Amino acid sequence: KKFGIKEALSTLGIKKSNSGTSTGHKWYRSTGKTLESYSPVDGNLIGSVVATDEKAYEQVIRQAEEAYKEWRKWPAPKRGEIVRQMGEAFRKYKEPLGKLVSYEMGKSYQEGLGEVQEIIDICDFAVGLSRQLHGLTMHSERPSHRMYEQWHPIGIVGIISAFNFPVAVWSWNTMLAWVCGDVCVWKPSEKTPLCSIACQRIAEEVFVKNGVPEGVSVLINGDASIGQLMSKDERIPLVSATGSVRMGKAVARTVSERLGRSLLELGGNNAIIISENANLDMSIRGAVFGAVGTAGQRCTTTRRLIVHEKVYNEVRDRLQAAYGQLQIGNPLDPAFHVGPLIDTLAVKSYKDALKKVKEQGGTFLIEGGVLKGVGYESGCYVKPAIAEVKNEFEIVQQETFAPILYLIKYKTLEEAVEIQNGVKQGLSSAIMTTSMQDMEYFLSHEGSDCGIANVNIGTSGAEIGGAFGGEKETGGGRESGSDAWKVYMRRQTNTINYGNTLPLAQGIKFHI
Ligand code: NAD
Repeated sequence: KKFGIKEALSTLGIKKSNSGTSTGHKWYRSTGKTLESYSPVDGNLIGSVVATDEKAYEQVIRQAEEAYKEWRKWPAPKRGEIVRQMGEAFRKYKEPLGKLVSYEMGKSYQEGLGEVQEIIDICDFAVGLSRQLHGLTMHSERPSHRMYEQWHPIGIVGIISAFNFPVAVWSWNTMLAWVCGDVCVWKPSEKTPLCSIACQRIAEEVFVKNGVPEGVSVLINGDASIGQLMSKDERIPLVSATGSVRMGKAVARTVSERLGRSLLELGGNNAIIISENANLDMSIRGAVFGAVGTAGQRCTTTRRLIVHEKVYNEVRDRLQAAYGQLQIGNPLDPAFHVGPLIDTLAVKSYKDALKKVKEQGGTFLIEGGVLKGVGYESGCYVKPAIAEVKNEFEIVQQETFAPILYLIKYKTLEEAVEIQNGVKQGLSSAIMTTSMQDMEYFLSHEGSDCGIANVNIGTSGAEIGGAFGGEKETGGGRESGSDAWKVYMRRQTNTINYGNTLPLAQGIKFHI
């Protein structure tokens, strides 16, 4: 009651039972199974969503095909105007939506608001982009010829998203895809279906008011089987999938089987190198925020700290002291720093990981554990843990989606970079240093092999203006800023002959 959840749900139009299938103008009936959404904050049932069945799927995909035929004819800046209004609508609903994100997913209210702010920011970015979908011009080798390239929309973009960013990931894809002239079909995580209903309702207001064709924004709900339906569907030329490496491999296999395109944003195993030249105040702040923020459930969470032997003991002691200050509890209450994990399944994998750390030879500086008692009734609250380990441990090589931080000692920077790169994932990385040489080495071709490499800021908290994504098992996709928009379009090379003769390639002569 104290946190105004009821009011937020009612403002967002969330009911006890909701249809999970919509075209942006209409909600569809389905006989799919019911997804019940329980809050990890207090264990209460928030509401339920009826998953999309195959019949409803067919109906909405056909509507998306129809919408695309119209939408691609709208001039890009006019599509940008729709996205501008979308940004305004999300500004209006920022607080209730931020609250729902916090209550359904379990991140702090502040982080929930931050996620909605990311939607607003990407809308602003996309509006500008709608006037800058530039191609290049080239000089033809033939006389009286002109060459250039242009970018056209590709059609239906399928979006599969993870529970931990239940609204922002959708917007990174859709806002760009929409200005590019595509239509979108979104399958959110089955763990956070209500956030998707709220976003679709907000988008619906803008679409209906502006006469946007029905089907530009399609929502479907369900588990992996609906995700596979999309991956198989030849009408969907691009599938953008965010989630675990396991999921990414399955999606990539299915999409590539039909030679479709996939954009993969998968797991990370991110490290900060703390060099002997680091500002330790900044390093500790960056490390703690990166490791315990969102209870370790960010793809960019700091999982490993690679610390120079000269500063190792000091870093270890200061981390221990900082962790001693952490308050764990209801993420809607600003008194707490760390909220719950998404569900009890996640708690189980956290406990399994702690066990494996011990079995594989790690030692704990801060023992973890599951919290019980008043305020922890959902069973999803755990203590952030720190362990001293070796990089080669099997458990350290994996991404455990929970607040477990691994400490590793190093002697030379070359060794530190080797440890940092010595995992299968390649999302985010950072170095803390005041040495120009350390920094440049880390950022050079010999340095970090990740999609994101930072200096004197931690691994999490990317800005939307840069291209976001990672290498190796992280999947190689890029979303959001820079020229990430190009993946949502198809490139066409055009040659125009404005002369009166037709010179043939390779000097071939036809006597006609
Ligand atoms: P998950 O892989 O369990 O699920 C993600 C989504 O994929 C869900 O919508 C799910 O229904 C769907 N899915 C699962 N199996 C599928 C299949 N075989 N075919 C089609 N769809 C399938 O991941 P999660 O637990 O929701 O999220 C946590 C993971 O996501 C972590 O590994 C995290 O690092 C990663 N993540 C990565 C990024 C990034 O940008 N790189 C961002 C957020 C989360």
